[in-house]
Order: sequence, then structure tokens, then C-alpha cells
Amino acid sequence: VLVPVKRVVDYNVKVRVKADGSGVDIANVKMSMNPFDEIACEEAIRLKEAGKATEVVAVSLGESRCQETLRTALAMGADRAILVETGVELQPLAVAKLLQAIVAKEEPGLVLMGKQAIDDDSNQTPQMLAALLGWPQATFISKLELGDGRATVSREVDEGLERLEIGLPAVVSVDLRLNEPRYASLPNIMKAKKKPLDMLTPEELGVDPAPRLHYLRFEEPPKRQAGAKVASVAELVGRIKTEAGVPP
Ligand code: AMP
Repeated sequence: VLVPVKRVVDYNVKVRVKADGSGVDIANVKMSMNPFDEIACEEAIRLKEAGKATEVVAVSLGESRCQETLRTALAMGADRAILVETGVELQPLAVAKLLQAIVAKEEPGLVLMGKQAIDDDSNQTPQMLAALLGWPQATFISKLELGDGRATVSREVDEGLERLEIGLPAVVSVDLRLNEPRYASLPNIMKAKKKPLDMLTPEELGVDPAPRLHYLRFEEPPKRQAGAKVASVAELVGRIKTEAGVPP
């Protein structure tokens, strides 16, 4: 099982836009594994523990510091890790192409990944990767069962739960309710330091990771006005008419 894990600003951090509007300020900000990727990692490890997978390989793409994220995956229980190191800002298509090249090398039976990265919120990489590979895909899953050459997944849709069967190998992206990721224990954090971590570059994988989209400007959203409590529905309706200017 191949698990792509992204290093992102921790979900507890309130991000700020840089004063010159050129991006988000991540200097001295706590970084963590993308929460959806933690869930994917946990699920892959559970598959291995249940004897349904033989090896869990975590892969991260980005700066050298992504090694920390990979060590977290190894401490959780992944067997080995791959870093594709680049200083280039990676957008979903570049990530999908790099992962496609890793898949060609590693030949996993399953790619299990987060449904979205909480920094760019793109929700594009798994779908692009499946398309590039020509593999079946199941997105936003909340349950996964592996059978012989097939997987059965449940996914939350507007009308309720959808159950799908897909052939393997496949790309599967996970949603929040799939599981609760474990914390890495201290002994496992120590053990993770000795697990193999391979380094590659986009050039070695034959991929040009240059961004295709250019951001023009970043802005803070407008400040929200304070709310007010009303005593009754009648008052609420009255204020909606008079103050919010909603036509009758
Ligand atoms: P996105 O399409 O950017 O919302 O990301 C969806 C998923 O793709 C994430 O949850 C990760 O599993 C994977 N991914 C995106 N960027 C990276 C990256 N730089 N390194 C590793 N995995 C990534």
C-alpha cells in the first residue's frame, strides 16, 4: 500500500496572509501531517496488521523537512518511506505526475491517500492520479474492505451511504470518519529513526514539476460582524426584514 503524506500547516494554527499579499505566512508556524493522510496511513497499517497488506510505504513530496512527516508515518507503523525532494511549489497535477512515477517503480496494489490537503484544499490529486494511471478510483471513503482483487468501500453522499465495489489496483481517498489514527509511542518514534527513507528528485523520476497556475494575490476574508441574540422568532423575522434588508 502506497500512502502519500503531505506536510501542511497544523490544523490548530490560525494562518495569516503575508503583509505583501504574496502568500500565507508559514515562518515559525507548527507543521504536521495532513490530517486526512494520517487517517490513510492508519488504515494502511491496519490492513497490514490484519494480514491484508504486506508492506506500507509512505511517500512525501516537497522540501527536505518533509522527512519529519515521513518519520511520523514510520513511527505510526509504515515500513519504509520515500521523499521526492524539491524546492518547487508543487500543485496537484505535478504531485499526481510524481506519484504516477513512484507507482510505476513501486507497483503497489493500492494507493490510499487523503481526500484533500488542508492547506490548498484542492481535492484534486487522487482523482488526477487515478486518471493518469487509468486505475479505478473511490473518493471520500468512510469504510474499506479488501477482498480478492477487489475492494468494497462505503462513501458518504448527500442521500446517505453509497457502497461501491472496485477492482484493484486502485486509488482510494479517505474521509474523516474512516478511523481514528493512533499516536506514535516513544519506542516506535525511536525505531522509526532506523527505518529506510529513500530520497529521489523530480528529475530522477522524469517529471517537470513547474507550477501551471500562478497566484495573483492573497487576501484575508472580511472580518465577521458580531452576532446578536433575539428573544423570539417574530423578532428574528422582523429584524431580517428591517435590518438585513431581505425583501418580503
Ligand atoms: P490535494 O489534491 O492537494 O487536496 O491533496 C489530496 C491528497 O494528495 C493529500 O491528502 C495527500 O494524500 C496527497 N498529496 C498532495 N500533495 C502532496 C505532497 N506534496 N506530498 C505527498 N502527498 C501529497
